[in-house]
Amino acid sequence: MLLHQVGPAPHVRMHASEWQKVMAGDPVEINPSVGSGYRVMTVDEWAARWKNNGDFPECLACGSKQTKEHYFVQTWCRGKKWWESESLCLDCHTFSFRSYTDPDFKTPEEWEKEMWSEMTKEYLPKAIAAK
Ligand SMILES: [Zn+2]
Repeated sequence: MLLHQVGPAPHVRMHASEWQKVMAGDPVEINPSVGSGYRVMTVDEWAARWKNNGDFPECLACGSKQTKEHYFVQTWCRGKKWWESESLCLDCHTFSFRSYTDPDFKTPEEWEKEMWSEMTKEYLPKAIAAK
């Protein structure tokens, strides 16, 4: 299932407070790989080190392909996957969030929990009967 969310601020927490500063014209932290300290940046400068997501290049608001992905996470578990991605559009400054989950995706934690509760269900009645 693919979910979409579009808005003038990031849907994910990452970069949310920096984005507010960029929009307000306040200095933001310079990427440690290029310098140190804070500087007022344009949206293009701020997003310069992010890459376009080749699979989902379009802005969900205006259709532009001038987008930069600032957030991506992906988890695979037993052949099922889940991912989230969010891109910033350099043309309309809108964030496009996409989330995808395979139908019966479970996290490794959920798998483990179910395995343990199955084992307990099998084991407990036998343990009680053996008494
Ligand atoms: Zn756009």
